[in-house]
Amino acid sequence: MNMARATPKEMDQLLRRLFPICRSITGDGVRETLRILKEHIPLVIREVPSGTKALDWTVPREWNIRDAYIKDPSGKKIIDFRKNNLHVLNYSAPVRAKMPLTELRKHIYTLPRQPDLIPYKTSYYKRNWGFCMTERQRKGLTNGTYEAVIDSSLKKGSLTYGELVIKGTTKEEILFSTYVCHPSMANDNLSGPVLLAMLAKRLLRRKPMRYTYRFIFIPETIGSIVWLSRNRSTLNRVVGGLVATCVGDRGPLTYKRSRRGDTLIDRAVEETLSGSKIPYRTIDFDPAAGSDERQLCSPGFNLPIGSLMRTPYGRYPQYHTSADDLSVVRGTYLRETLDRYTDIVAELEGDEYYESLSPYGEPQLGRRGLYSAIGPAKNEGVRESAMLTVLNYSDGKHTLASIARRSKLPLAEVRRVADILVKHQLIRRVA
Ligand code: ZN
Repeated sequence: MNMARATPKEMDQLLRRLFPICRSITGDGVRETLRILKEHIPLVIREVPSGTKALDWTVPREWNIRDAYIKDPSGKKIIDFRKNNLHVLNYSAPVRAKMPLTELRKHIYTLPRQPDLIPYKTSYYKRNWGFCMTERQRKGLTNGTYEAVIDSSLKKGSLTYGELVIKGTTKEEILFSTYVCHPSMANDNLSGPVLLAMLAKRLLRRKPMRYTYRFIFIPETIGSIVWLSRNRSTLNRVVGGLVATCVGDRGPLTYKRSRRGDTLIDRAVEETLSGSKIPYRTIDFDPAAGSDERQLCSPGFNLPIGSLMRTPYGRYPQYHTSADDLSVVRGTYLRETLDRYTDIVAELEGDEYYESLSPYGEPQLGRRGLYSAIGPAKNEGVRESAMLTVLNYSDGKHTLASIARRSKLPLAEVRRVADILVKHQLIRRVA
C-alpha cells in the first residue's frame, strides 16, 4: 500500500481550510465542506428535499446564514458571528430587533463553569433564535437597549450528504460513517471527515479488495436516519463498519463495540489494536451517548458497526466549545489514527485466508526439513506449534488473525509461518 500521501501536513492543511466554515445539518456550509472533500476523493453529492419523510423524522427546512451580531446601547458591535460562528445558536430563525437587556438575556447561552469559552448550541427542530457567548461577556452586559441581528433563512431546500463507494470483488460492504454538521470545531467534528477522506484516498489506490467500502459524510442523526431509510433494501450487505468521530486529539484510542458486540468488526478492531501494542480501551455500545451508531445500531437495523475514537465526545473539557479548535487536533495524531483504520481494513481483507493443500492428516514436516527429527529445540517449540496450528486451521474459513487468537501465538509469528508453508506448497492463499 502506498503510504506516501495522507501526510500530517496534508491533513493539517485540510483541517485549516474546513475549520472556518459555518456548517449545520443542512445548508451551504455542508455543501462547501463536501465540495472541498471532493477535491480529494470522488464523492457523490446527494440532495434530499425538505419535507421528505425518513423513518420517524422529516427533513427540516434548509438553514443558511450570512451574518449575525449584537450591538450594545452605544451602537458598538459586541458579538460578531464573523469573528466566531459559534456565537449564533445553530439553526437560529432570522431576527432584527431592538430590545432591553432583560429580553435579550432570554436568548443568551453561556458556560458558567467555563467562563472564557463559547458554547456550541443548536435548535434544529424547535424554532428559536439565540446567541452564544462567554460567561465573562454576558456578565459585562450593562442595562440599556440592544440591537440583535441574525441574517439567516429557513427555507424549503434540501439536506445534503456525500457518499463514495469503492467496489470490491464481493458485494459485502464495510460502511465508514462520519458527520459534517458542526461549525468551527476541530476534534468534534472535523477530525472525522478529514480522517475518512484520507482513508478513502488510500483505499482508492489499492487493487480491488474483497469487500466493497462505502463512505458516508452526513449530518449527524438526521443524516443517518435519511441514509438508512433510503438504503433499507441493501442494508443486509453491510457486514461491518465504523463511525469516525473525535479521532484527532492526543488521547489514547477508544473502541466502542457494536450493539451486537461480537461481530466481524469487533473482532477485527480488537485484533488489530491488541496486536499493535499501543494503549487503547474498549467500551460497550451505549445508546445514551454517541454519534450515528445510535441510528445504525438501533434494534430494527442492528448493523454490525462500532466506533473507533481517541478521546470520546463529552470526555474532554473542550468538547462542544470554542476551545475545540485547531490546537486540539494535529495532523500527526490524525495520521496515527488513520494508520490504525488502515490496519483494520488490512485485517478485514480476505488476503488473510489460507487453505491447506494437504488436508487429510498432517503433512510429514520432517521430510521437508520443517520438523526436528529428535523433537524441537526449546525455541523451536513455538514455531512448530504455530506450524501445526496454521496447517490445521487453513481451511479457507479462518483468518490468520483468528488462528493467532485461537493459538495464543503472536500474529507476526503466525504470518511468518504461513509464508514458510506457502513456500513449501503446503497451504495457499484463498482469493
Ligand atoms: Zn458534537
